[in-house]
Amino acid sequence: MARRIVDNRQISSGKLIMNNFYFGPDSFRELEGVDPRLVVCVAGTLLDMNQYDISVFDGIRTFKEQKKLVRAGNSWTLASKHLKGQAVDLVPYIDGRLSWDNMDAFKEIAAAMRRHATRHRIKIIWGAQKRYGGDWLTVNDAAHFELA
Ligand SMILES: [Zn+2]
Repeated sequence: MARRIVDNRQISSGKLIMNNFYFGPDSFRELEGVDPRLVVCVAGTLLDMNQYDISVFDGIRTFKEQKKLVRAGNSWTLASKHLKGQAVDLVPYIDGRLSWDNMDAFKEIAAAMRRHATRHRIKIIWGAQKRYGGDWLTVNDAAHFELA
């Protein structure tokens, strides 16, 4: 049986406040084949977003797609967790465009992802480069979440 989770916003206002954000067909397509533990976090995160809409930019990848990304300098490993469906890239979607340089929005996304992961006892890592002990190299990295 699922435990009922009461949202902080419900407690303070006495009623549930929903934002107006919803996933479009592209985001749904990207979630296909992604580990359900990550999908749970992503869905919760979308509902929690207050200011910024989000887009699921990338989910599972084929080896061929990964090779292409490495060659283009957009990824640095052929052992990406995207290959196993254990990673997602979430990007703020603002004024009808993906907003790769809005760090405030990425931080709001990351905070929500962490909250939902903790709630469901799922271990996630924000930023792929961190896994290899490095600092963030690109803004692309701020979009990346993977299962630990
Ligand atoms: Zn990624």
